[in-house]
Amino acid sequence: MEKIILITDKPEQGKGLFSRVLSLDSLDLEALKDFEAVFIEAADAARVEDTVRGIKDHHDINVYLKPLFLLVKEQAKDERLAGLLDGTIVKGNTLEESIKAETGNIRGINKKIQDIAAAGHADDNSITTKILRYLFSRGRKLSPIRSVRSRFGYFFPALNAYHSKEDIQVFTLLDFMKKEQLLSGVFRDRIHLCNYCNSAFLNFRETCPLCKSADLIVNDLVHHFVCGYTGPETDFRQENRTVCPKCRTELKHIGVDFDRPSVVYECAECKEVFQEPAVDSLCIACGKTSSADDLVTEDIEEYDLTSLGRNAAFSGIDMLFVNILKKEVNVLSLDTFKEILNLEVLRIKRYKNVASSITALHMDNLDRIQTELGSKGQSVFMEIAKVIRGYVRETDVVTMTGNSLYLFLFIETPLENVQGVMDRLKKSVEKPLTDNLNFSPSIRTISLPVDGKADAAELINNLLKAR
Ligand SMILES: [Zn+2]
Ligand SMILES: [Zn+2]
Ligand SMILES: [Zn+2]
Repeated sequence: MEKIILITDKPEQGKGLFSRVLSLDSLDLEALKDFEAVFIEAADAARVEDTVRGIKDHHDINVYLKPLFLLVKEQAKDERLAGLLDGTIVKGNTLEESIKAETGNIRGINKKIQDIAAAGHADDNSITTKILRYLFSRGRKLSPIRSVRSRFGYFFPALNAYHSKEDIQVFTLLDFMKKEQLLSGVFRDRIHLCNYCNSAFLNFRETCPLCKSADLIVNDLVHHFVCGYTGPETDFRQENRTVCPKCRTELKHIGVDFDRPSVVYECAECKEVFQEPAVDSLCIACGKTSSADDLVTEDIEEYDLTSLGRNAAFSGIDMLFVNILKKEVNVLSLDTFKEILNLEVLRIKRYKNVASSITALHMDNLDRIQTELGSKGQSVFMEIAKVIRGYVRETDVVTMTGNSLYLFLFIETPLENVQGVMDRLKKSVEKPLTDNLNFSPSIRTISLPVDGKADAAELINNLLKAR
């Protein structure tokens, strides 16, 4: 039996088959690292979902990729959760067998997690990389589920941890991953969304091209062969007979005397008669009306990892911003940075009257930022890279880890000088982003003194802990 941990809302029920039991109320996700699989049990489905989201959102690959199982009293289908889980197991007499049956699956996933970690880029925890790693470690496709509970009519359960199922950014992210050839897609459906609120709950109707009313009367058009007259069927009505209004002949046999080539519309509001109605859509969600041409369309596809995507699961993804920054600023490897930092710690120990500082700059959701910036990415990222270059002197040292975390060693600069500078840097980095994005990017800076007390590893750890 594998080492398995249970997260439960009923910790008082004891350990049973589990190596350890954590209460949902006091959950330390770091603890999950030491186990091969995590089982979750809670009466409230929303709490289960929150917990799963928390795990997927964690920065450590040994937490966010961990095999996850739901423990339930009786089997019930929840497709939203199922896409995020590795299995649902029913409690009871057969629990031990059910868990044993998953052993091969659990080992397979953990082996893949180890392989990815061994490749040395596990610290890239951008959403894109997490999704690639999830698909790779599970051997799964990213499949859309049709659902009336989704605003779009479809959702991707495996993405629910990173985006709410109401978030249109899901499509932007998928488009980005497809454009970068990390995923390949197979067409499943094309959806039409309200251009005000992105709801797929639309009522399409034919309307009067003149006054936009949907109150239309539809009549068959009648064509009298003998005289060639064509008009709405109402023109031919005479008590119980059908009589041509032009030549006064009674029409008897369809196909012989006359035919009905098409229909004609009459607007009940403005009485306009026309053959080609306009089409618009009333959004049931927000009540706004749009013409059919203005609706947002998205292709719903089923996605699979490409060979490029599989490689990126190991190597992390190449972010445009990182490439641009590396051209503007001399970004050292983390190991070199640590060596220089250690030398600086020793130097400060020896010459007591000098002070340097170390700063961490977190820039989260870089892949989302890149996706949303689209073609503006190059120029916006260049602007930010230049801002950063402006704040870094030749003697300062810069490194990065995991795409989203940048470390600066400011030589001979005491903490009190650095803090003001970093506040200004943060504002200057945020400005071009907030000007070009529909959401506020999360950028945080933390600075610590290099005072000779802590060594490089401790300093970096303390910075990471403070995030
Ligand atoms: Zn009308
Ligand atoms: Zn006629
Ligand atoms: Zn709407």
